[in-house]
Formats: sequence, C-alpha cells, structure tokens
Amino acid sequence: MTSEVRYDPLLGEWVIIASHRQDRTYLPAADHCPLDPSGPGRLTEIPAPSYEVAVFENRFPSLVTPPGAGPVAAGSAGAEPGLLASRPGHGRCEVVCFSPEHSASFADLTHDQAALVMSAWIDRSAALAARPDVEQVFCFENRGREIGVTLSHPHGQIYAYPFVTPRTARVLGTVGRYRLEQGRNLFDDVLAAELADGSRVVTEAEHWVAFVPHAAHWPYEVHLYPRRRVPDLPALSAAEQDEFCDVYLDLLRRFDRLFDTPAPYISGWHQAPRHAAREEFALHLELFTIRRAPGKLKYLAGSESGMGAFANDIAPERAAATLRRGEAAR
Ligand SMILES: [Zn+2]
Repeated sequence: MTSEVRYDPLLGEWVIIASHRQDRTYLPAADHCPLDPSGPGRLTEIPAPSYEVAVFENRFPSLVTPPGAGPVAAGSAGAEPGLLASRPGHGRCEVVCFSPEHSASFADLTHDQAALVMSAWIDRSAALAARPDVEQVFCFENRGREIGVTLSHPHGQIYAYPFVTPRTARVLGTVGRYRLEQGRNLFDDVLAAELADGSRVVTEAEHWVAFVPHAAHWPYEVHLYPRRRVPDLPALSAAEQDEFCDVYLDLLRRFDRLFDTPAPYISGWHQAPRHAAREEFALHLELFTIRRAPGKLKYLAGSESGMGAFANDIAPERAAATLRRGEAAR
C-alpha cells in the first residue's frame, strides 16, 4: 500500500495519487461500523469496550511512510521540481473518533468531550509536525453524505502532508507580499477590519472571533480566529483551548439550525507549516457547508472546478445575520 505525490508544474503544486484507496469501506450498515467500540464477538478498529476519544492510523491512507523509509527532499523550498517530478507519498493519515456514540455528532458533544478532542488535535499536531517526513498537519472533519463521508460515525481526520499544501502556500505568498508592502501582518489586519466593520461577525468571545469572510466562497462559511495570533494548535493557551470548545459547539449548533436536516459541513484547522513563515501565520478554523438551501447543494461546477472562480449565491452579510440570530435559512 503506497501512494505517490506528483508535481503539477503549471500550478506549482503537489497532487496525491493514491489509487489503492478505491477499495475502502463505503457506508457500512450501522451494526458493522468499524469506529464503534468493540463488543462481544465483534472486533472493530478500536479494541476496547468503550472509549472517550480514539485516534488511530487510517486503514486506507492517502499518505503513508513505510517503516525504514529514508527522508525525502522537501518540495516546498529550493529548486523547482522537474516537469514530471514525483516522490513517494510519505506522511500519515489518522482517524479521530469524537465519541463512542454511533449516531452522535460533534455538535452533540459536551464541553468536556470537545475539550478531549481538542487535546487529541493538539497532541497529534505536535507529534506529527515533529516527524522528518511531515511539512504540514491538517486536522479536519467532513460531516454528511453530501460531503462524501463514507462512515457516518462521528469522526474527523488528520492528514500529515510531506509538502506545504497549495492553499497554505498561496496564503503565505499574499501574507509575505503584504508584509513587504505594508509592513504589517495580513491576518491581523483582516481580523481587525472584520471586527471594525462588524456586519459579518457571527459571535465574539474573550479569546475567539467568528465571522463570515467578506468574500466568502461558500453559502455559509465561518472563519474562527483566536484574537491572539499563534501559529498552530499547540501554541494555544489553556484558556483559549477551553473557550474554543464553547464557541465551536455554539457555531456547529447554529449550522445545524440552518436547514431542516443537519448541515453537511467541512471544518478544518489551518496551521502553520513547519518551515515556512511560522511567525506570520495565524492559526484559525474554517467551517463551511455546501448546502445553500433545504435540499439544495452548492456544486463545484464549471466556473469553480474549471477555473477556480467561485460564485456564491448567498450574500455573506445575509449569511452572517442568519447565523448570528441562530435562525433557519430562508
Ligand atoms: Zn459507529
């Protein structure tokens, strides 16, 4: 079971080729869920009669470093890779089970359960970022069949990439240019501008601010920042970690009130890569749903998939107002 990463010389980004994943488990019956605790006569991925939060390596990883593999040169710095460059798809993919309850969701967790998940994200981010085969760690959750989730049990994933992801590389580029031209940090200024404007702020707390970005790509999209700029999850203070749980659970519950059924969503932590401008990066979480109205999904069609040019049918100010009031979308 190996994968490779290939370089797209026109876009300047790496693509993971993991053809072995075609055979992965797809929507098993509830009584065959591999993420439930093990029971009499039934051994799941988690060999314990119960658990609070469980983390283990994905059985169908997109990225994996075989035992004994030597280091591979980083592709994020130095000379451009060649036109047909490829490398082993080293790294690691982990699964984080949020709860032993098969039918729960993250929004159902208590504050203390959410705090345990937060601790797992922090521990794994620190451990994975220390590996020589890892450049960037991404903790995320896909929720809902509409997103392509193949297991409905409440769980998230952690990808430890052997390269700086294209999205982060692009952001670091704009942040670097802004520093050169303005002498300031772009993340700081965006957060200050959103707070000053206020029309897209969804919720504010002592340590965290959640807003719909001015140029939101998705129908309902929220960015959640700590007020204090830190590069990654392990840099959060105990007070910031604790308050995050309340703010995030509140946001997820607001998302779940938007439609007649729980919102399918993608939620992910953007963390600084190991070797690139860590002092400039601002840890934040991005949460968005691809549902734009009850029964209607936003598809990445021609303009988005073909050109990367997003068209959003919901005004960000309206999305923010709906989420701020905690009401259903109309
Ligand atoms: Zn389950």
